Amino acid sequence: MAIALTNARVFTATGDPALEPGTVIVERGRIGWVGPASEEHLGDAEVIDLDGRTILPGLVDAHAHLVYDNVQDGYTIELSKPLEQAAIEAALHAAKLLRMGFTAIRDVGTRGNIAVVVRDAVAQGRLPGPRIKASKQIISVWGGLGDFHPTHIFRREQYATALTEIVTGPWEARNAVRQQVKDGVDWVKVEASGTGFNPLCPAERDTISAEELRAVVEEATEKERPVVCHAESRRSIVKAARAGVRTIEHAVYLDDEGVEAIAEHGVAVCPTLGLYTAYAERGLEFGIPAEIVTNHRRTHERHVEAIRKAIDAGVTIIAGSDSGLTNFPQGGGLEEVCTYVELLGMSEQDALLTATRDAARVIGFPDAGTLEPGKLADLVVLRENPLERIRALTEPDVVEAVVKGGEVVVGALPLGVPAAALS
Ligand SMILES: [Zn+2]
Repeated sequence: MAIALTNARVFTATGDPALEPGTVIVERGRIGWVGPASEEHLGDAEVIDLDGRTILPGLVDAHAHLVYDNVQDGYTIELSKPLEQAAIEAALHAAKLLRMGFTAIRDVGTRGNIAVVVRDAVAQGRLPGPRIKASKQIISVWGGLGDFHPTHIFRREQYATALTEIVTGPWEARNAVRQQVKDGVDWVKVEASGTGFNPLCPAERDTISAEELRAVVEEATEKERPVVCHAESRRSIVKAARAGVRTIEHAVYLDDEGVEAIAEHGVAVCPTLGLYTAYAERGLEFGIPAEIVTNHRRTHERHVEAIRKAIDAGVTIIAGSDSGLTNFPQGGGLEEVCTYVELLGMSEQDALLTATRDAARVIGFPDAGTLEPGKLADLVVLRENPLERIRALTEPDVVEAVVKGGEVVVGALPLGVPAAALS
């Protein structure tokens, strides 16, 4: 049976202005028709009047870590809890993200093989959650982002359930990719610079060699897997773009050479600005060490400026949150979109495109991300209008309903249509 969601403001994320009011007809899990609200297309569909509501495509977070739960450092990432607990938390976070309106995410670093397992359980309908593109452990090097523990404790020792997998040389890098593909990943995550979360390897430091990085990309490309690269330092960004990664994460110290390399190689950038904004503005309150907060403040303005330059150069920006780190809870993708309006000066429309159409396309869900006939019926019904006031996205209770694959998975639509009726 077809259902017509009508009289709502409909943001299709196709680049066109919102339909005010519009109708979305859902049929057999897909979008059957979208257009201005009128009687003539309704046919024998069951009509649900959503007057005053806004319909968006389901939201996408291109930089999630389902296992992160208030992670503060190498200890809380890896040592403080067993893998079993991390797996349960990942499942809970998947359900939470769905409730918040996220119907698709890319997990860019997990412990063990948790993201793949949660992805499959969600796809089989055994767990509630967004559609997931999964990577496995972050490929790292000794002294790099993922080498969290001082050498006097672990000297070139790694354990199987870590967040990262450390490789030495191109052959180990290739083997890591081969095994990850065997283990079912959609994406290969690699790091090319340090991070504020590892005092042993700060963000400004380059880590993996160009040779190792090329080996990762070559092997992944042969296996038809794209590569997502953590790159904060100036040179790591250039190196990653030239090596052929598909997306660059953070790009904190992006400079003109980096923008040029990214634009030339058609790399998308996921700046995770919401996280850095939170730390620059509220880091001390969050209990982050003062020197790290000072560093965030120092780099933040430049980071924002560099991302603006990238946008001017035609680079695709995709919204991703990196949420689950210190006091930046899961679901930070909403904050991310607000940051694009407030700091980058994007229009509300353009900001929403980064978390719908563009993120879905880049992370590998070409049949989601927009409301167009034939696409998956993944959509969110909001009580407020983020096209007018982007902050509405972050308000509690703003989500009235979430529909995934035509099924009402969160909330209840007016008229009490049973979930089964839409699928
Ligand atoms: Zn991350």
